[in-house]
Amino acid sequence: MKFLDSHCHLHDSRIIADIDGLVRRAQSVNVRYMVSCATMEDNFELTGHLSQQYPSILPCFGIHPWFIKMRSEKWKDTLEAYLLKYPSGVGETGLDFTDKTWDREDQITVFEHHLRLAIELKRPINIHIRKAWEVCVQILKKTGRLTVPGLIHSYSGAADMVPVFEKYNLYISFSGSVTNPSAKKVAAAIKKVSMDRFVLETDTPDIFPYLSESENGQMSANRYLTGNERLNEPKNLPAIARIASLCKGMAEQEFADHAYENACCVFQPLLKGEPA
Ligand SMILES: [Zn+2]
Repeated sequence: MKFLDSHCHLHDSRIIADIDGLVRRAQSVNVRYMVSCATMEDNFELTGHLSQQYPSILPCFGIHPWFIKMRSEKWKDTLEAYLLKYPSGVGETGLDFTDKTWDREDQITVFEHHLRLAIELKRPINIHIRKAWEVCVQILKKTGRLTVPGLIHSYSGAADMVPVFEKYNLYISFSGSVTNPSAKKVAAAIKKVSMDRFVLETDTPDIFPYLSESENGQMSANRYLTGNERLNEPKNLPAIARIASLCKGMAEQEFADHAYENACCVFQPLLKGEPA
């Protein structure tokens, strides 16, 4: 089995000191590629640099909805310059309406610009949506079906919305939240997603998965290691895949193969010339 982590943040200050070890541990469990998303202009340079240093790191550049207030006046030029400099995707970008005090109109403006850039430059897009599902669909109605696919990361929407996003050429990405036994909504979404539309991610260093303690990786319902404060890393992706395959009702190998092939379809523009 081989794996592609479709969404993580390897520039993060909590893990960067151990980046060599992190990449090595990912390789040791056959995580071939890691899509590392920048979140603001401040970490564009480091994200690009990491992708040059480690061939398994594929960069994305974008302004995360949590950080749009921190963007500079020249953010559009900077973003485009990085996208042109590196074989890269767009993101992390999106809409987060969890906190009512956040400026929703500003989020929409910034997200729409990222979408336009992805379409113009023919790049995959890594999208963050929280509690803004209807607005996201309204925006997609205006852009139409994406010519280069993208994904919705750590999907937390309704199962019924999954086919709607698939129609716009988006893939549905499942994170360690699928390993949370009480995450019924995520389990319903993974049952609903088409075979050629799911991908997997860790969202490193966040969303540490609920892993079973046993060495052989069998789920033991009452023996979870819950890790609110623990830092996640891409080497945990096979464990997430194993539990996600159970939710989907598929054999682990078949499920992992589909997730890998699907992810290669999304990130093909970044993989050119590299053996998948
Ligand atoms: Zn993220």
